[in-house]
Amino acid sequence: MDKYKNLIGGKLIEPSSGEYFDNIDPADKSDIVGKFPKSNAKDVEAAIEAAKNAYAEWSDMPPPRRGELIYKVGELLMRDQKKLAEIIVHENGKPTPAAMGDIKSSADVAYFMAGEGRRMYGQTTYSSLPRRWALTKRYPVGVCGLITAWNAPMAIITWKLFPALICGNTVVLKPSEDTPLTAHYFGELVKEVGIPDGVVNIVYGSGPGTGEALVKNQDVKLVSFTGSSQVGVKISEECGKQNKTCSLEMGGKNGLIVMPDADLKTAAKAVAAGAFSTAGQRCAATSRVFIHEQVYEMFMELLLAEAKADSISCPIINKRQFDRILSYIEEGKKSGAKLAYGGNALAEGKYAKGYYIEPTIFTDVNHNSKLAQEEIFGPVLCVFKIKSLGEGIKMVNSVDYGLTASIFTKDVDSAVHAMDKLEAGCCYINGPTFGSEPHMPFGGLKKSGNSHREPGTQAVDVFSEWKTIYIDYSGIAQQSQYKMK
Ligand code: NAD
Repeated sequence: MDKYKNLIGGKLIEPSSGEYFDNIDPADKSDIVGKFPKSNAKDVEAAIEAAKNAYAEWSDMPPPRRGELIYKVGELLMRDQKKLAEIIVHENGKPTPAAMGDIKSSADVAYFMAGEGRRMYGQTTYSSLPRRWALTKRYPVGVCGLITAWNAPMAIITWKLFPALICGNTVVLKPSEDTPLTAHYFGELVKEVGIPDGVVNIVYGSGPGTGEALVKNQDVKLVSFTGSSQVGVKISEECGKQNKTCSLEMGGKNGLIVMPDADLKTAAKAVAAGAFSTAGQRCAATSRVFIHEQVYEMFMELLLAEAKADSISCPIINKRQFDRILSYIEEGKKSGAKLAYGGNALAEGKYAKGYYIEPTIFTDVNHNSKLAQEEIFGPVLCVFKIKSLGEGIKMVNSVDYGLTASIFTKDVDSAVHAMDKLEAGCCYINGPTFGSEPHMPFGGLKKSGNSHREPGTQAVDVFSEWKTIYIDYSGIAQQSQYKMK
């Protein structure tokens, strides 16, 4: 059984407690992928100290040079794409193409952020006073704490870490306890390209045991978090007390509208992919679909056919989440919703060793029920019949979340109106509710975020501070609102 260590100041270091946790393969509960440190506050402090020590050298390195190193990590990610995808399949359970996509997305962010090293543009403009320049320049924030979820284990790390590094910050990463091996291999690549020791530190462990210590430490100047809204709000409270920046990427309860003029076959494929691929374990999963009454029967036939054809190739990440999804299904039945498809855990044959749940479709859902309102993070879809676009938009918006939303229609007026009115950070016309590109911001409104975006150039806004600089060459002491004596 392989035992892994924290990465602190470039060295692999055992946890001070000497304790480890098991990383379990969700497709085979008896298969332990590896043992990882149960890091405590002392280990977290050591990692923060290493990040502080590395800060002067790293933040002084010109951003184009930092970009060259980040670019090289991107190249190594692509060199090792297959091996890294195998690791993700092993500890996360998602199918190989999705795991390969996770690595590709990470490499793409590396290439994009490497280019940011040559941009990082500020403004240079005229002052309202003579013989004076006014300009802005970005500076790093300091030591950043990165806390990540397991469902896209490499992409979530790199969407935060590359923007943090290009801006000149050093980091302490606390990856999800469900996917620590991906983070370990990422640490190896960082070392291989020669990013100085201490710029990237990795501590493993639980949220309360390790993540909380990272958030609470006053030497951490910024926290970037991806995970559930419940945990995100707690982190935000602690950061608020300390007046430190926090960027939150959180949950979703995403809706998709199907209008009568939609390409129904494509729409049904998009809904099924959004609801059931990777067993619905996406922040941007389609968890609600709103079908116009004129095409309801026809669309349901296509959707049920897609659900039946689903190969159920992705397990649920862990026992806690498996039980949680099943309890939502039970509660949905009790709330009066009609189970139109699935609803069962699978325990036979190739499913016997892991955590598997069938694609599940509910109709006649009470819009105020937990099933319709709360993020389930599993292969569960709620179907609603609508009479008009206006009703569809209103229903998509009537949840606490606002991550993604989509509409299928050929009518330009309906499509553009929906883009104006849907309350979501990412909106799609004729596409599934998921899918993001590295040069574009991703993030949500309402309970799904806190107005920050990663990646895109917007991530550079998260990980840098603006300095406004005035250069006066008038030879007199002057200021713009009144004449000085
Ligand atoms: P989670 O909130 O349980 O955990 C996320 C991370 O936070 C983990 O590393 C965990 O150890 C840590 N953590 C937990 N409690 C903590 C605490 N008190 N202090 C500090 N850290 C703590 O979420 P999860 O189950 O890992 O991931 C699923 C969630 O992530 C879903 O809600 C999903 O929608 C969301 N997600 C959002 C995005 C996005 O971009 N918006 C992307 C992926 C996943």
